[in-house]
Amino acid sequence: MSRLEEFVQEERERLPWFIACLGELDRRKALETRGYSSTFDYCVRRLGLSEDEACRRIQAARAAVSRPQLLPALAEGRLSLTAVSRIAPYVRRPDAPALIARAEGKSSRELEAILAPLNPVPVKRDTVRAVAVTAPGPDGARAEARVEFAFQGSPALRAAIDRVKELLAHKLPLGGLNDVLLEVIRDYLVRNDPQGTLKLGRTAPVRGASSIAAAVRRTVWARDGGRCVFVGPDGIRCQSRRVLEFDHREPRSRGGKDSVENLRLLCRPHNDTERRRILGEGTLIH
Ligand SMILES: [Zn+2]
Repeated sequence: MSRLEEFVQEERERLPWFIACLGELDRRKALETRGYSSTFDYCVRRLGLSEDEACRRIQAARAAVSRPQLLPALAEGRLSLTAVSRIAPYVRRPDAPALIARAEGKSSRELEAILAPLNPVPVKRDTVRAVAVTAPGPDGARAEARVEFAFQGSPALRAAIDRVKELLAHKLPLGGLNDVLLEVIRDYLVRNDPQGTLKLGRTAPVRGASSIAAAVRRTVWARDGGRCVFVGPDGIRCQSRRVLEFDHREPRSRGGKDSVENLRLLCRPHNDTERRRILGEGTLIH
């Protein structure tokens, strides 16, 4: 681990140099005189970068030629290469320095929200259309009916969906939009539809949660903050919010109860780690 941490540090320190040199060669059109059709051609053919890698680096290199402040931000990890390549189309704007400062340390979703107003898209009509997807089945892949919904929702809708996902996370840890929306709509219909005739099926429950009382599940979920509580020997807590399972500290097979005290949230990989630790290597009971 310490070697990996050194390597990543070295890579981070070298990257701005690579970007700066590439930008200078690109600016001087030096590569064309050497027989390459473009900087991109040089990156792919001579340096052996993939097309994606080449694109991101060239975008970043051109951006850094006009805004050299991007280089220290890259070196210090305040901006990732991907973030720089996303900012690249906007570096010639007069407000670019402020934009770059705002982008530092942001998640990709936050960066998306910062950049979106700079590049407005036309209003689109809502579309709903039947499609088929190929799903793996017992007899090979088969076509399965789906419906593709496309619409431009408001930020308020996104915030509401995020909150509903959090509230439903004890039941729907994967938080797929289909399951989340179906759950909310079903709840609305049960309370408001006098006919009550729609058959909406059930959403997939959390593995291992079926016999645990809903009140216990909610209490454990809230106590553990909706995250995996696994702590490694160096005191590093997992914090995963994905594929969470209710784990019995004392396994059911040894008389462990479905109580708040005996239950905790673990992500699937840590649930398996703990199972191996308690029950012995090679034992996986699902
Ligand atoms: Zn975990």
